Amino acid sequence: MKIKEWLKTLIFYEILIGMKQTMQHLLRYRPITLEYPHIKKPLPSNYRGMLALLKYDDDTEKCVGCDLCEAACPSRVIRVVSAEVPGEPTKRFAKEYYMDMTRCLFCGMCVQACPVDALGMTQEYEWAVYDKRNLQLNKEQLLAIGDRAFPVKEKRLEFQHPNVAYFNVSFKDIPEKEF
Ligand code: SF4
Ligand code: SF4
Repeated sequence: MKIKEWLKTLIFYEILIGMKQTMQHLLRYRPITLEYPHIKKPLPSNYRGMLALLKYDDDTEKCVGCDLCEAACPSRVIRVVSAEVPGEPTKRFAKEYYMDMTRCLFCGMCVQACPVDALGMTQEYEWAVYDKRNLQLNKEQLLAIGDRAFPVKEKRLEFQHPNVAYFNVSFKDIPEKEF
């Protein structure tokens, strides 16, 4: 054994190298823990928390009951029961809307799929419950979360949402009706 290696063994060189990082942190000690829940860390603006259903500024629901969110969800969280708007057979709405949040992956695919931006992801994460059944939310509960998390609401458009109009290609480039 060379003298250098022998000396390293004698002074526990590897252990000293390992302890270097520990000592550096110890000498530069700054508390990094927060007194949660009294102090909370700011979340990034794109944080994907609890889902919510949204309304327009006139308090009408945005959801048109199209089921696209249900189809897009990889975890079968969403169930939409759609119906015609009374007296307006071309329009639909979500008569019932359920989310089983015990299954949600918070992937955001339902939000992306919605053509009228009726779904939003809030910054809420404190949803621990004793009974998992409390995480099966209905439409009223999801709308209430939306009201709470998004107090500033989108203005209701007079005719169609631009995203819906974009897909409504069958009415483009046809001659005007003659009366
Ligand atoms: S965030 Fe993902 S898993 Fe959760 S309801 Fe939406 S699509 Fe489903
Ligand atoms: S995709 Fe949007 S509009 Fe369609 S049912 Fe889901 S939340 Fe409602």
